Amino acid sequence: MDTDYWIAADKEHCWHPFTRQSEWADSEPLVLVDGEGVWLTDSEGRKYIDGNASIWTNIHGHKHPVINEAIKAQLDKVAHTSYLGFSNPRASELAEKLCGYFAKDTLNRVFFSDDGSTAVECAVKMAIQYRFQTGAPERTEFIAFDQAYHGDTMGAASLGGVGAFFDRFKKFGFPVTHLSGLGELITLNKDQIAKTAAVIIEPLVQGVNQIRPWPEGMLAEIRRWCDEHQVHLILDEVMTGFGRTGTMFACQREQVVPDFLCLAKGLTGGYLPLAATMVQSQVYDAFLGDADRAFYYGHSYTANQLGCAAALANLSIFDQEQTLLKLPEKVELLKGLLADLADRHPMIYEVRQCGMVVGVELRGANGKAFDVSPRVGEKICLLARDHGLLTRAILDTIVLLPPLSITADEIRQMCEALGSTLTDWTKKNLPSH
Ligand SMILES: *Cc1c(COP(=O)(O)O)cnc(C)c1O
Repeated sequence: MDTDYWIAADKEHCWHPFTRQSEWADSEPLVLVDGEGVWLTDSEGRKYIDGNASIWTNIHGHKHPVINEAIKAQLDKVAHTSYLGFSNPRASELAEKLCGYFAKDTLNRVFFSDDGSTAVECAVKMAIQYRFQTGAPERTEFIAFDQAYHGDTMGAASLGGVGAFFDRFKKFGFPVTHLSGLGELITLNKDQIAKTAAVIIEPLVQGVNQIRPWPEGMLAEIRRWCDEHQVHLILDEVMTGFGRTGTMFACQREQVVPDFLCLAKGLTGGYLPLAATMVQSQVYDAFLGDADRAFYYGHSYTANQLGCAAALANLSIFDQEQTLLKLPEKVELLKGLLADLADRHPMIYEVRQCGMVVGVELRGANGKAFDVSPRVGEKICLLARDHGLLTRAILDTIVLLPPLSITADEIRQMCEALGSTLTDWTKKNLPSH
């Protein structure tokens, strides 16, 4: 087995997410075979910094001994057992641990599922069923935001605001109104509010919208508005959860507690697919009583024991390694280095940063956005591989979202890699005389 074989089998049989497969067939994919800390190694032995934390999942680095050991120990007991009609030790411990991050009597109930989309899907179905069971069956619509991303299953995708992803499925989705921001929310008319079950938002920063932070204080304002109008607040912290923005959860920055909190990506430290939808007891209580009030929803791998063991280990590392305490210094270092880069490279139009979540938007030297078709961002990320950096662009915004365990030295290497990539690009694309 070698690189040529793996690539040939991939091109013959595999279908990749969000991928134009006909272009993939002509590309030279990297085959990633090993990882340690923030480093990934391909099948030819080349090493790269994992600049987007393996699509925003990894927290404490690859091959972390604590998570590896926890998974192995669990594996020696049992890998998976049904959560339908049965309990399991790791899920109990994990649910208690997650609730412990929030004030007592707030988010104190956890529904497990598999990934970010399903965490959102659960919240949305719960939010609707809640209304049927509390005498407000007319409240079945949702408010979401332009350019939002909440996942790809039908329910979650209908909340999304990226036309290219969902327009062709629109008529099959939930009734959702997309707003540009707080201003449009607070001026919604009464009729619309009366039909609304919940508002959903990615707190502090929209990831897929080219890493775009929300104005400070907006989240707390939305919480106040929701309370005033008996509308539930669903926070999608699938990307922002687990320290990415500096606090354990982004909502803590504005002392906001949502009615539903959706967690996934970083929950297991980037090891295994596992998600959680946390709810307040006021929501949960509406599902008690008569049998037909039950939440008829579940997946075969709900509360997978290996996943829960990985998540517990992931959370324990935050305590052992004081991950959050070490972050401010890293965030500041990254900010300074990126400001230097922006000074040196006229291509950098804007750097948007929220904790360890960064978008570096590139534009032409005249400040005008590049045409879409040459896909400059994508090509720059391909070129970055030659400089030892793996990441993806969203349009022409280069995402830097490394594992939180990245060291000061590695932050410097990551920024240097981006800098030399831009220099390289500029040389290659200088107009010839
Ligand atoms: C990634 C993401 C999702 C979807 O999660 P999956 O695990 O890919 O299904 C939902 N919301 C946000 C904010 C995300 O970043």
